[in-house]
Amino acid sequence: MDHRLSKRVNEMATSATLAMAAKTRELKEQGVDIIGLSLGEPDFPIPDYVKQAAIVAIEENYHAYTPVDGYGDLKKAIITKFKRDNNLEYKPSQIVVSTGAKQSLANLMMVLLDEGDEVLLPAPYWVSYADQSKVAGGVPKEIPTSIETDFKVTPQALEAAITPKTKMIVYSSPCNPSGSVYSRAELRKLADVLVKYPEIIVISDEIYEHINFTGNHASMAEFDDMYDRTVVVNGVSKAFSMTGWRIGYIGGPEWIARACDKMQGQVTSGANCIAQRATITALENPPSKIKFMVDAFKERRSLILKLLSEIEGFKTNNPEGAFYVFPDISYFFGKTLRGKNINTASDFSLYLLEEAKVATVTGEAFGDANCIRLSYAASEKEITEAMHRIKEALK
Ligand code: PMP
Ligand code: GLU
Repeated sequence: MDHRLSKRVNEMATSATLAMAAKTRELKEQGVDIIGLSLGEPDFPIPDYVKQAAIVAIEENYHAYTPVDGYGDLKKAIITKFKRDNNLEYKPSQIVVSTGAKQSLANLMMVLLDEGDEVLLPAPYWVSYADQSKVAGGVPKEIPTSIETDFKVTPQALEAAITPKTKMIVYSSPCNPSGSVYSRAELRKLADVLVKYPEIIVISDEIYEHINFTGNHASMAEFDDMYDRTVVVNGVSKAFSMTGWRIGYIGGPEWIARACDKMQGQVTSGANCIAQRATITALENPPSKIKFMVDAFKERRSLILKLLSEIEGFKTNNPEGAFYVFPDISYFFGKTLRGKNINTASDFSLYLLEEAKVATVTGEAFGDANCIRLSYAASEKEITEAMHRIKEALK
């Protein structure tokens, strides 16, 4: 890194998910037959009614800057969605639309963290939480979990990690990368700890809300004693296969939402106007319209779990949501495969890329050095072929 770059960016890690996606793309362009199971990105087309809404918006000449925190009618659609799907009540001043949930999260780190503030991250956690909080001056504090507790944080472990410097806790449910889903009862137990520490803000990343095979989605914001300090992060990337359209949003305390609006007003001026118009239509339609995608993910989950169980050395939990499996592959540490020493999850992930031509992401990026992440947002054919290749490469 050039010394003229800021310390801030020099110390920031490159997004491991996006780096692996770039590597996969590059190898494919060189003609290498890579199967990409690294990027969490639905492979379904965008629903036609959403596409149509974008076309209409262009034809109606939507072109200008939007309100910084999103169109009023989009905020209304988000409020209706929160009420319909989550039984949560928000006023327009509590909603901010951003350029993806990733930006919503970055806004939150920027507006809430001061130098040295601690951010609790039950591990494994989504890759960008740690570096986003560091850029904002925060100090990520991982709370390890294990496959034995389905990668979920216990109330005891949460309480033990809290210090006078704890500013927030950030987690996703359904979880990227573990696929774990916190039940309402489990969240209540965590809330029982957090109510004792009223200064701590909860960032509840619910972007995989609809990709949940339990049929029950719960949010910390549902609890009356947590509502005033919980920010729900959501977006259309996963549920509507709209990753490239870059629309995310938050619902949360007004003072936090207004600060995000202020931040965004200096950084982006708000999200893309056409994508915002299409998002209104996406959210106005009932979740039953996208159930076919969820059903397909559920079948793919069964397939990948079955095939993984046939490979010696992979230990998995039973992911109940999102579209990832996060096997513990520490069995391979200390072994030599085809002359290559495997001592870390990164070694293992690289080995799979080079020898099986399957792209995965190392668990180190998610705060768990014993695992790798496989995304099953891929066709059944690709999943089957990838697992076959992995099995062969590990023989
Ligand atoms: N949170 C989690 C848990 C994710 O997996 C992702 C990945 N897309 C994001 C946030 C960011 O989503 P977006 O595409 O809306 O920025
Ligand atoms: N969230 C996806 C993933 O974890 C997309 C990549 C990203 O946004 O970093 O793979």
